[in-house]
Amino acid sequence: MASTPKHDYYKTLGVERGAEEDDIRKAYRKLARKYHPDLNPGDKAAEDRFKKVTEAYDVLSDESKKKVYDQFGFYSDNIPPNGAQPGAGSSSGPNFEGFDFAEFLRQQQQHQRGGPPPPFEEERGGGGFRDIFGQFFGRNSSRQAVHPERGADLEYGLNVDFWQSIKGTQVKLSISRQETCEVCHGSGSSGNHVAVCPECDGSGTVTQMAGAMKFNLTCNRCNGTGRLKNACPNCRGEGRLSRPDSVEVRIPQGVASGSRLRVAGKGNAGTAGGPSGDLYITVRVEDHPFFERDGDNIVIQIPLTISEAGLGAKIEVPTIDGRALLKIPQGTQSGQKFRLREKGVFNGRKNTRGDEIVEVFLKAPDVHDERTRELLRELAQIQTDDVRSDIWSKVQPAA
Ligand SMILES: [Zn+2]
Ligand SMILES: [Zn+2]
Repeated sequence: MASTPKHDYYKTLGVERGAEEDDIRKAYRKLARKYHPDLNPGDKAAEDRFKKVTEAYDVLSDESKKKVYDQFGFYSDNIPPNGAQPGAGSSSGPNFEGFDFAEFLRQQQQHQRGGPPPPFEEERGGGGFRDIFGQFFGRNSSRQAVHPERGADLEYGLNVDFWQSIKGTQVKLSISRQETCEVCHGSGSSGNHVAVCPECDGSGTVTQMAGAMKFNLTCNRCNGTGRLKNACPNCRGEGRLSRPDSVEVRIPQGVASGSRLRVAGKGNAGTAGGPSGDLYITVRVEDHPFFERDGDNIVIQIPLTISEAGLGAKIEVPTIDGRALLKIPQGTQSGQKFRLREKGVFNGRKNTRGDEIVEVFLKAPDVHDERTRELLRELAQIQTDDVRSDIWSKVQPAA
């Protein structure tokens, strides 16, 4: 018999040990309906119950997981579910009956708390958690053969100002990327050197979570010794080293905020001769006080005087190329938009330019002299049309 499990999944589901698959499923459905977060909004206790029930069902509904759980009173995804097959080592395998799991974990934790890591190459009396399963499941605890793997891609954010985005630019980025170790040329091994294990940082143990439980496991990489034999001392057996690097990046003309640029081969170096990853640069364009981008178009708001709007005028407006002339027709209203063709942003993919959209608004004159006042009074006497008549005719509620 296994020791009393910390989480009794059978109890959680309210079924007997050895219950049929069907009964387990029925029990789960009933409880899941009862404790489902959607039906118990804001109820933390129900949510916890739901999680426990789901965890229990996850294990008990899976034949191979259930097998492990029934034997050890415990299941973790870190244990290969198909590992308990005969043929790994002796045909019967070690006998785990009567093994006190709780006691074992306690010992492990005490070991963790007390004292420094064991010296190099010391055989551990208790053996690690993983070692036990390793023996039982026939897992090879020595490091697996290294296969060439592509290096990871790197992501970078880059701010450019408005003009850099319009005209394009060249920037030098300082990044940190993993490069192939020049001492071992990426193999990670070198003569008879001993390096501190990078996986566990020399402690010999790594922490893993299994559900709500936390376990200190013997480091698989160094078998709990905290040291790696024959490991390159320069890269501690990693084959790669993090290094600052500078990368020249050409920011294309007309780049939009949020664009992602790829610099091939400038990600992390691959392992065991695998290719490097790529570097991705996400561009953020800083705002301009007046020019605004709308795709390839530039939008700008331009004030007009009352006389310009009323009489019509030719005014100068700013564009990204400099000043341009814009004809304002007689009787222009606030909010009207004018288009300056091909005064927008260059689009390299389409090989076209956007437009500039000029949106005008009326600016009332500053009145601080008697002459202006006189003229405006005169204007008011002539212009007697009610500019709000259209609104008045439409705001009345239907009779
Ligand atoms: Zn190296
Ligand atoms: Zn280690």
